[in-house]
Amino acid sequence: MPTGKIKSSYFTLETLADGVYAAIAKKGEGAMGNSGIIDIGKEVVIFDTFTTPNAARELRQLAEDITQKGVKYVLNSHYHGDHTFGNQIFEDVIIISTTKTRNLHMDKNMILDPNKEMEETKKYLNQLEARLEEELNPILRTSLEIQLKEMKKVHESIPELQIVLPNLTFENRLVLHGETRTVEFCCFGGGHTPSDAFLYLPEEKIAFMGDIVLENLHPPIYNSQEFINNLIKISELDIQRIVPGHGNLVTKSQIDLMLDYLHQLNAKVGHALEKGNTLEQILAFETPEEYSTWTGIDGYKRNLNTVYNELR
Ligand SMILES: [Zn+2]
Repeated sequence: MPTGKIKSSYFTLETLADGVYAAIAKKGEGAMGNSGIIDIGKEVVIFDTFTTPNAARELRQLAEDITQKGVKYVLNSHYHGDHTFGNQIFEDVIIISTTKTRNLHMDKNMILDPNKEMEETKKYLNQLEARLEEELNPILRTSLEIQLKEMKKVHESIPELQIVLPNLTFENRLVLHGETRTVEFCCFGGGHTPSDAFLYLPEEKIAFMGDIVLENLHPPIYNSQEFINNLIKISELDIQRIVPGHGNLVTKSQIDLMLDYLHQLNAKVGHALEKGNTLEQILAFETPEEYSTWTGIDGYKRNLNTVYNELR
């Protein structure tokens, strides 16, 4: 059994416990979201499948090499492509998500015309390049550079890409009783999307959180109140280590940090609305000092806009 770090071109593998690995995506290489490999005794569980088939292929190969076991289950935390576009590499496997996530995956991710998809992605790449040429803010430049590199990999992968949907759905909680460990798939609600599930190892106190917990990144928000409620429920679990959806490993304190961010954002927009500020004035608010190093293109501005629409 390997220990420490194993290198792949797409991700860094971190051993969290015997048979539990976090695959932390390398930035700009076409993996994008973080994944996980969990050996449950006779077989292996994969958490999220990256954003390109190439990255997912390497994940599966490595999972089977290091455990000497086959992959039996895959969990999709939510429908976003950077966590599900590698599904096609696991077509022969049981792919699990919530019912809502499966429906969203079907409605929003289906590629009907690959040529059109290629063209649209190319347009987006051109927009990113144009913006990068003019941008002076170093944090935003970094975000643009990473996004540009990732999207080039996505663009290259489109001819090969096939959208594969989950084939087993659950609502709130599904427990896999493996030979050597118990794995829980839980969904306490949404916030980042309408349905955000996570993988919890109660014995090891480890959680693979998908995009409900992020490191050094403005969280894309679907609904801030749902996000807050979800995080509060999650914070009641006995968790020590968290694999975030993006970024490096964190501890439970990251949940408090995310809650502070969401509460502060709500309070800020709420006060501004009470004072009669317009959307334009609200969108001009600076990113607070404590989140000034967080990446994400227009991350804070987009969240001000989302919360404005919620509270208005
Ligand atoms: Zn996401």
